[in-house]
Amino acid sequence: MSNRRRGRLFIVSAPSGAGKTTIVHRVVETTPGVAMSRSYTSRPVRAGECEGVDYNFIAAEQFRSMRDAGAFLEWADVFGDFYGTGAADTESRLVAGQDLVLVIDVQGARKVRAAGVSSVGIFLMPPSFECLEHRLRRRSRDPEAAIVRRLATARQEIEAFSEYDHVVVNDEIEPCADRVRAIILAERSRRDVMTAEAEAVASTFRS
Ligand code: 5GP
Repeated sequence: MSNRRRGRLFIVSAPSGAGKTTIVHRVVETTPGVAMSRSYTSRPVRAGECEGVDYNFIAAEQFRSMRDAGAFLEWADVFGDFYGTGAADTESRLVAGQDLVLVIDVQGARKVRAAGVSSVGIFLMPPSFECLEHRLRRRSRDPEAAIVRRLATARQEIEAFSEYDHVVVNDEIEPCADRVRAIILAERSRRDVMTAEAEAVASTFRS
């Protein structure tokens, strides 16, 4: 029997524009043993994105048939496009002992919890509504109507912070990434996670 520790599942959610992808990329780059999950989506590829890197881009019809076949751990319709986390991909990486971060919206996070899958939730918040609006307008290639819609969704999504285990305010990238990394490292030292290893150490003390 393998005594490899099962990986832990982390869920990072935030309102659109709060910088969650940037933060998670930074954390994954600088923290051994943790990877970011790659979702499936039916939305069109944006400029600068690559198939199989940013997402697995698939047609809506293929998404529906995978969904109906139970291929997703969770899925959601976000702004009219489908997004989902592959169940088999996730399971095989966790079994291999890798910690995995799902960067998913609050609907998806609820589905993971409702399915009884063990996870650690981290909610990122922009420092204020004004700050989010400024960031969205500055970075956005989207039309005004899309920005207005994202801001309206953010007003609802922000309230979901109370459903998460940890909350981090994303004021600046590095301090925010440090906090997320600290959460991941602390979770690895939880007693329930460490029981087998701690028992092995303790057994060397027993005569
Ligand atoms: P975007 O199209 O800007 O890449 O992502 C839009 C939203 O979909 C973001 O909030 C992102 O976190 C969320 N999202 C991306 N992948 C998934 C997924 O697999 N499941 C769910 N539920 N949401 C996702």
